[in-house]
Amino acid sequence: MNTSYMVTVEEAQKFVLEQIRSINAEEISLPECLGRTIARDYYSQDNIPPFDNSAMDGYAVSSPDVARASRESPVVLKVVEDLPAGSVAQREIRKGETARIMTGAAIPDGADTVIRVEKTRSEGRTVTIFGSIEAGKNIRLCGEDIRNGQLVLKKGTVVGPAEMGILASLGVDPVAAARPPTVGILATGDELVEIKEELTPSKIRNSNTYSLIGQVKESGGIPRNLGIAGDSKNEIRRKIEEGLKNDILIVSGGVSVGDYDYVKEVMTDLKGRIVFWKAAIKPGRPMVFAIINGRPVFGLPGNPAASMVSFEVFVRPAILKTLGRQNDNRREVSAVVEEEIKKKKGLRYFLRAHTRWEGGVYFTRKTGLQGSGILKSMVLANSLIVLPEEEEIIDKGRRVTVRFLN
Ligand code: AMP
Ligand code: MG
Repeated sequence: MNTSYMVTVEEAQKFVLEQIRSINAEEISLPECLGRTIARDYYSQDNIPPFDNSAMDGYAVSSPDVARASRESPVVLKVVEDLPAGSVAQREIRKGETARIMTGAAIPDGADTVIRVEKTRSEGRTVTIFGSIEAGKNIRLCGEDIRNGQLVLKKGTVVGPAEMGILASLGVDPVAAARPPTVGILATGDELVEIKEELTPSKIRNSNTYSLIGQVKESGGIPRNLGIAGDSKNEIRRKIEEGLKNDILIVSGGVSVGDYDYVKEVMTDLKGRIVFWKAAIKPGRPMVFAIINGRPVFGLPGNPAASMVSFEVFVRPAILKTLGRQNDNRREVSAVVEEEIKKKKGLRYFLRAHTRWEGGVYFTRKTGLQGSGILKSMVLANSLIVLPEEEEIIDKGRRVTVRFLN
């Protein structure tokens, strides 16, 4: 096999990312920002909590006042005020005094701790205290969660439910979020029919468009389905031109060296610059990456599993970069492989696998046939076994790198 004209996976990834710019931000309302990427650093302009407050229901006291209180010799204090959450104390706590306080209410001046209600007995406007307590106990201090001026959420963070809560407590709404890239998806092939069309002899249903829609969404992009182009230069050209309205364009199929593989030719006709063609990867060797009109265009292999793997390896990182995402949330672990694997030297393999954690170790095995058209093994996979170019035989029981897909 002649591998000299192929770029390695690493080179190809680098070539792709070099061409990708992050796109601008937009303001979106806080309740809508789940899963979005934050487009600026957010600093706190307040202390959170903004004031010392009670961590429980009880009595705000000055610790010296109750220093000698016990079951046997309780101390009686005068209750001067009731402080529900949200209330503002009207007076200071002086010697021999206390205020009834609820969780979340501000600690009144003169008090340095809160004694829990279970250690007390209330009688009219007095309360009997049956134990002592240290200063500072049961108080949530001003700024103990977040200090004024602190960097709270970094640019490139993906917003989850906890981030939504933090943004709310910082008073941030709307949120500056990266504008998700639109990603055009074009399927090519005379053999393809759409889902609802009749499956006449020699036809197959277009499945790549739908796997790709899922992968684009999962990566934070907005898929735009451009449908199917038959294997004709004109049709492919027209659809690619239409697809270039998007931030990124994916064309599936038609990138090999078959007589009807026109995608690369059309890219050249459109004055596109072919950045690379063919990568040393299995599955997914026949692929092309070009810049047309300043737009990144991926020509992915038509075979369904190959299309998905190439997306994972090359397109997903590009989408994440346009979003300014800090990390890609794909865990890579070392796992013990449960079967011998043979491979061709010179190609990096990505095998569909199921990986599980058992007795403190990850174990991994292939999920079935690995032909580049076999989608079922992808359905069963929760991970990809990544095998380096130089390897040929991987013995059973050896450690391999596994990349989780979820
Ligand atoms: P190609 O890359 O065009 O040579 O296609 C390689 C293989 O993938 C062929 O068997 C095609 O029928 C199949 N294929 C291409 N595009 C799709 C698609 N959108 N959905 C399902 N299979 C496809
Ligand atoms: Mg084809």
